[in-house]
Amino acid sequence: MKKFLIAGNWKMHKTPNESIIFVNELLRRIKDYKDRDILICPPFTSLYPISQILKDRPIKLGAQNVYFENEGPYTGEISPLMLKDIGVEYVICGHSERRNIFGETDEIINKKVKKTVEMGMKAILCVGEKLEEREKGKTFEIIENQIKKSLENFDNIENLVIAYEPVWAIGTGKTAQPSQAEEVHIFIRELISRIYNKEFAENLIILYGGSVKPENIDQLMKEKNIDGVLVGNACLKVDSFLRIIDYKIL
Ligand code: PEP
Repeated sequence: MKKFLIAGNWKMHKTPNESIIFVNELLRRIKDYKDRDILICPPFTSLYPISQILKDRPIKLGAQNVYFENEGPYTGEISPLMLKDIGVEYVICGHSERRNIFGETDEIINKKVKKTVEMGMKAILCVGEKLEEREKGKTFEIIENQIKKSLENFDNIENLVIAYEPVWAIGTGKTAQPSQAEEVHIFIRELISRIYNKEFAENLIILYGGSVKPENIDQLMKEKNIDGVLVGNACLKVDSFLRIIDYKIL
């Protein structure tokens, strides 16, 4: 049975010391789950100390970004080899903040996804439309384009997670209605079934991201095609992240 995934994207928050305190408290209070994986994605400077704490513990470690070469003259970049070496299991590729603030294109994201998986980690590919694109009725077209381009010549789909994150819902407090998210998740699953095959599509983990919080997690997780969430703001406090992790499908 596929396990759901609850992932926290810390973005540019928490020093290494703050990260250690946070993770120790999380570990002290987290329950033992059989049906869901828990993932945290701290900033690069916290990855190594956190990787030492998380060894053989029930929380997985992810990075928020990566470069697509293992070494070389790429000032300021971090390689997949470096991440793999310290026990990182997941890498977020193509978050909308990377696309919109740092100019990442689908072509760059495609290279990052491929290299992450080639190095033995799982890639979390983020896709999502902007508000004006949704208002013009272009949501499916945008999602299809992003997925097709980001997955060009990529066949290792077992190591891929897709996160649907409508840009208008990220960090804004505006969550997509569960039915709006579900509609896009169904579209993504059908698209993956067309590009790859039905079995891959059924096993694919599709996360929803965009102002997920304790107040809406249970409703979102009720939807059949939502296999977990990618959480920004609400994963930065232990109480709120624990409540999200502990979602209940009523
Ligand atoms: C995110 O950064 O992926 C995200 C979904 O942020 P927030 O939960 O703050 O909207």
